[in-house]
Amino acid sequence: MRGISKDRKNKPMTTNTRDIHVTVWNEYRHERQDEGVAAIYPEGIHATLAAALRKAELTVRTATLDEPEHGLSVDVLNATDVLVWWGHMAHGEVSDDVVARVQQRVLDGMGLIVLHSGHFSKIFRTLMGTNCDLRWRESNDHERLWVIAPGHPITEGLGDYIEIEHEETYGEHFDVPPPETLVFVSWFSGGEVFRSGCCYTRGHGRIFYFRPGHETLPTYHHPEVQRVISNAVRWAAPTPGAPRTAGNAQAPELKWSSGR
Ligand code: ZN
Repeated sequence: MRGISKDRKNKPMTTNTRDIHVTVWNEYRHERQDEGVAAIYPEGIHATLAAALRKAELTVRTATLDEPEHGLSVDVLNATDVLVWWGHMAHGEVSDDVVARVQQRVLDGMGLIVLHSGHFSKIFRTLMGTNCDLRWRESNDHERLWVIAPGHPITEGLGDYIEIEHEETYGEHFDVPPPETLVFVSWFSGGEVFRSGCCYTRGHGRIFYFRPGHETLPTYHHPEVQRVISNAVRWAAPTPGAPRTAGNAQAPELKWSSGR
């Protein structure tokens, strides 16, 4: 099976989304240091996202930076089908060992959803292989995310666009590899545009970068933003496929010459 969590690879696949095991990872610093952020996310951004994903009938756990191994032990990652990542002020405190462990799980098939300022996380920059820099401004612009790939599963249930009353502005150029599928382009009232929903594959893992989610604004309470994240989790979850055979192998034609 393609990339199924090691603990779960012997279980039969099912279409029941409760069988998709999500870990929501949050740096969880702004909420503990800034009263304004705590008022919007009293239990942390991870708790708000986890509640939304549970409502979408996914199986969810959370992990935060200050837990041992940042809450991302080998066992936790092996039991995770899709990892959701929010970080901002403490990217440098994420251990390189944990980043390497997450990278390997993605290459093995774990899905990864990187949110907002996670564009500068070690794991995203490692997987992209670029600087992932961008233009930004905190001026509470209006954001309109246009759906660019209307047939894509990540857009299911949406209209032509999503409106967010106030957000931090991100603008091009976004220094990432060209996305394999571009799902959203944002327009901001200040005039910028930005590639806000970008799909990638690395090894056997699917990656989705989704732009909105500045910590001083209630963006993760927005129903359509929540919808995109739960759609993205379903899209990024490992699915069964053909076996992956590698290494020294007998020629398939030998079965004919041996008279079978
Ligand atoms: Zn921000």
